[in-house]
Amino acid sequence: MIEFSGVSKRFPDGTLAVADFSLVIPSRRTIALVGSSGSGKTTLLRMINRMVDPTSGTVSIDGEDIAGTDPVRLRRRIGYVMQNSGLLPHRTVLQNIATVPLLTGVPKDSARERALELMDTVGLDRALASRYPAQLSGGQQQRVGVARGLAVDPNILLMDEPFGAVDPIVRRELQSELLRLQAELGKTIVFVTHDIDEAFLLGDEVVILGIGGQICQHGTPEAILSAPASDFVADLVGANRGRRALSLRQSDGRTLVIDGEGRIAGVLPEGVDGGARR
Ligand code: ADP
Ligand code: MG
Repeated sequence: MIEFSGVSKRFPDGTLAVADFSLVIPSRRTIALVGSSGSGKTTLLRMINRMVDPTSGTVSIDGEDIAGTDPVRLRRRIGYVMQNSGLLPHRTVLQNIATVPLLTGVPKDSARERALELMDTVGLDRALASRYPAQLSGGQQQRVGVARGLAVDPNILLMDEPFGAVDPIVRRELQSELLRLQAELGKTIVFVTHDIDEAFLLGDEVVILGIGGQICQHGTPEAILSAPASDFVADLVGANRGRRALSLRQSDGRTLVIDGEGRIAGVLPEGVDGGARR
């Protein structure tokens, strides 16, 4: 469990990136933080692995205030996947994936074997192991980024708009791969995105953020869809309506919310008539 308690971050230039933020993130679930650019998502994420330290308030992991932990050791047990994959350009795919395990003292042969297994896990052909990042497609680079994030078998995986820079088709593919992976791995995933569809698809829980990391609404996709807390959230959720074209379908006495591509976007709680909304 990750807990933010009254957390604020003011950068040295005076920018208040996050103001009095409190949130409990349960273990072994995917939580999606969604908000527009500048809402403080990256700052929040980086406060979990101490790439950024709060100005006030505390962040704790499993009840332990991380302010007292060694940042380097903390970072080695938390996976971090960045938007532009953050791969080292002059290292091969295999070396990129194995970098952190090697740093933590895993013998070379096991690190190599583990890296190859991780390539299988994220759906990368082992034949790509000796390529350099520039010789890969955007989607392949992101897969390497995910494999690297998983390399130390962390309990926590932080993902900062990891699929933001790839085309929509590959993006869909990566999203379903992540769903598959998470069903297998059961990590605590904090997934940052500015795409509400992506947040609803991937998040067991979704946190909609406004400026300064202000929480506009926090809940399951179903709960947010069925009862937006404000006009702002209602607009956001209803955005791209044409493409989204949500519809309802009855199944086994439950009301399913179906998106424009026929996927189940969520289940309405009993007694809620989603059809009455808008
Ligand atoms: P997001 O990831 O949601 O786009 P960020 O967390 O990157 O938002 O940024 C939140 C706010 O903090 C923005 O106004 C941004 O300009 C500012 N900010 C981020 N990093 C720094 C920094 N190192 N110094 C000063 N301001 C920063
Ligand atoms: Mg960001």
